[in-house]
Amino acid sequence: MLYLFNTLTHRKEEFTPLHPPLVTYYSCGPTVYDFAHIGHARTFIFADILQRVLEFNNFKVKRVMNITDVGHLTSDRDSGEDKMEKGAKRENKSVWDIAEFYTQDFMLMLKRLNIQVPETICKATDNIKEMIDLINILEKKGFTYQIADGVYFNTSKFSSYGGLTGMTLLELQKNLKAGSRVEMVEGKKHPTDFALWKFSYPNGRSFGSPSNGLRVNAQDDVSSRRQMEWDSPWGKGFPGWHIECSAMSMKYLGNTIDIHTGGADHIPIHHTNEIAQSEAASGKIFVRFWLHAQHLTVEGAKMSKSLHNFYRLKDINEKGFDNLALRYLYLTAHYRTAMNFTWKAMEGAQRAFDQLRRKLLKIKEQRTVNKKIILSEEKREKVKKFQQKFTEVINDDLNTAAGLAIVWDVVKSDITPGDKYDLIMLFDKILGLDLSQITDNREQRTIPVEIKELVEKREELRRVQKWDEADKVRIEIEGKGFLILDSKDGTKVKRN
Ligand code: AMP
Ligand code: ZN
Repeated sequence: MLYLFNTLTHRKEEFTPLHPPLVTYYSCGPTVYDFAHIGHARTFIFADILQRVLEFNNFKVKRVMNITDVGHLTSDRDSGEDKMEKGAKRENKSVWDIAEFYTQDFMLMLKRLNIQVPETICKATDNIKEMIDLINILEKKGFTYQIADGVYFNTSKFSSYGGLTGMTLLELQKNLKAGSRVEMVEGKKHPTDFALWKFSYPNGRSFGSPSNGLRVNAQDDVSSRRQMEWDSPWGKGFPGWHIECSAMSMKYLGNTIDIHTGGADHIPIHHTNEIAQSEAASGKIFVRFWLHAQHLTVEGAKMSKSLHNFYRLKDINEKGFDNLALRYLYLTAHYRTAMNFTWKAMEGAQRAFDQLRRKLLKIKEQRTVNKKIILSEEKREKVKKFQQKFTEVINDDLNTAAGLAIVWDVVKSDITPGDKYDLIMLFDKILGLDLSQITDNREQRTIPVEIKELVEKREELRRVQKWDEADKVRIEIEGKGFLILDSKDGTKVKRN
């Protein structure tokens, strides 16, 4: 049995999907206006572990993750600049280029951390029509009002607003009013109301662009304040951030889905608003299980560029640490506890991970030598117990820390090397530490990051069958004194 902590009910519940064995699962994805950092990594490793655990339990997972490439404002209260437009100005590029560049950066991070890519990845800007349709339904049902700044959702019309936070609408509004930093958009009826559609120009005034809801090309409209805007029944503008996830979740997975994940910061606003607008539109429960990962802090502080603690995988690598050692570090804490990243903890995780790989390499060698060892009844019982215990802890709200402890118990036990190896490979289906690819890591550690990146680039080119370009990269790698070895087990690189 699988138990998951559901933010909606504030307790651990037995998980069963609506239509077994199918599980419909939506993850809030990144806003692609800047580099992905190690805090994002924590949330997406958690979401990956959840997918793996579901599959381990023989569910068939249909998972969608969005890419937010429009509408996420610098203030969660519908004021401030669109993060994407801000990123474009910062780099003097088009918003579309910014989105493409940082989406690629994010995807590379997933690959490096051995995070499985969800079946469907969808961009907000590819689903504007669906968002407009949803807002239309809400308007027809009387949940919206229009002010100079845009079309808003009237939270007082949705009686269970805020349920995810455990607070009532009145309590939420009181809290917001008490908060000194809440900038209230002029004309908004209640502090909790949120934008469904924001106008590029006050009152939706349009400057003679298409009226069919199609994208207005940035190059055609260079004088506009915004690069990304679309026509809509209310006027030219862009969607609110929250409507994106509702529209895409409903489009790809249906009105009611089994699971929705994100960082804990999304509970009071983004997810609360997703629930309100989705349920108001469909009249059905939007999500059955909400799961949230707690945030990562760095040396006790929130990650920010000004504090110079905004770390990316690149920074981890530059200090000589492996990507998967970071994954190992994250697995040592429960996803629902806040985690503080320190370089000391990173060193400890790298050491433990190296040790695990060394031990496993030895086990792998012994396994072939001692192939014929027959298990005693007692040892067979132990193997079974390890497997049961691992399944139990992992099915207890994804307790990866306890799962890792069992991996170490297996390593230290007296069962045969063959059984140790098989058990650890089975557990790694969930942990995702890529332990089947283990090689002598002393050799691997001395391969510079630059070479590892070139190897990855070559693999990517080979994957898309760009053989000539891939070959050029191989020649470049060889020119730097390294040898590429391709085999059916994958590509290895060695000093020449
Ligand atoms: P964003 O790109 O800001 O929209 O965030 C994408 C996802 O990463 C969301 O689910 C956030 O909650 C999560 N996230 C952002 N910062 C952190 C952090 N410091 N620690 C953990 N998760 C984070
Ligand atoms: Zn979302």
